[in-house]
Amino acid sequence: MENKIIKIILGTSNPNKVREMNAIAKDFSVELMLPNCEFNPVENGATFEENARIKALEISGLSSGDYFMADDSGLCVDYLKGAPGIHSARYAETQEKRIDKLLSALKGVNKRHARFVCALCLVNKKGEIIHETKGYIEGEITLERSGNNGFGYDPIFLVKGLNKTMAELSEEEKNTLSHRGQALNNMLKWVTMR
Ligand code: IMP
Repeated sequence: MENKIIKIILGTSNPNKVREMNAIAKDFSVELMLPNCEFNPVENGATFEENARIKALEISGLSSGDYFMADDSGLCVDYLKGAPGIHSARYAETQEKRIDKLLSALKGVNKRHARFVCALCLVNKKGEIIHETKGYIEGEITLERSGNNGFGYDPIFLVKGLNKTMAELSEEEKNTLSHRGQALNNMLKWVTMR
């Protein structure tokens, strides 16, 4: 029997995110797509889940399709009471400065445990939230940058159980272990088993 591809419009304007998520989704009969409209949501939720909901609901009202999905993710450092958290993308002006700021905030600190978190929200064409998932990856903030792969805080995130930063993993390794990989796998299992 023909395998029907389920199309899901993503609440993002970032083509790299769509590419990364499609790489994670490669074993599922789904296609994750950029919306064909301008998308500038106001992410004013207090949690990752709220921001994912805001974006998924907003894109469902702006674009046409059967399914809409949005994610929100970031890095939470225990010693900093969960910061930068939902502010990860805005913690400082550039990614280089964001990493410098985090390393300075942890200067002389031994307690360096952190986790990446990803919340995903799926909305149907009636604008109803139909499923939500979350993924985590635990690790530690290193003393300095290491590795050239990935993006964001990857060069200073030492993955628990591996002697490697996230930026030292191949794209495929990162996608299997990462917060986004886990949240998306669980979401797509749910979508394709309905
Ligand atoms: P977004 O919600 O996916 O756009 O991510 C928000 C911010 O969290 C990004 O701009 C990064 O700074 C950080 N972040 C999220 N996921 C990752 C990751 O997989 N690696 C490194 N940084 C990440």
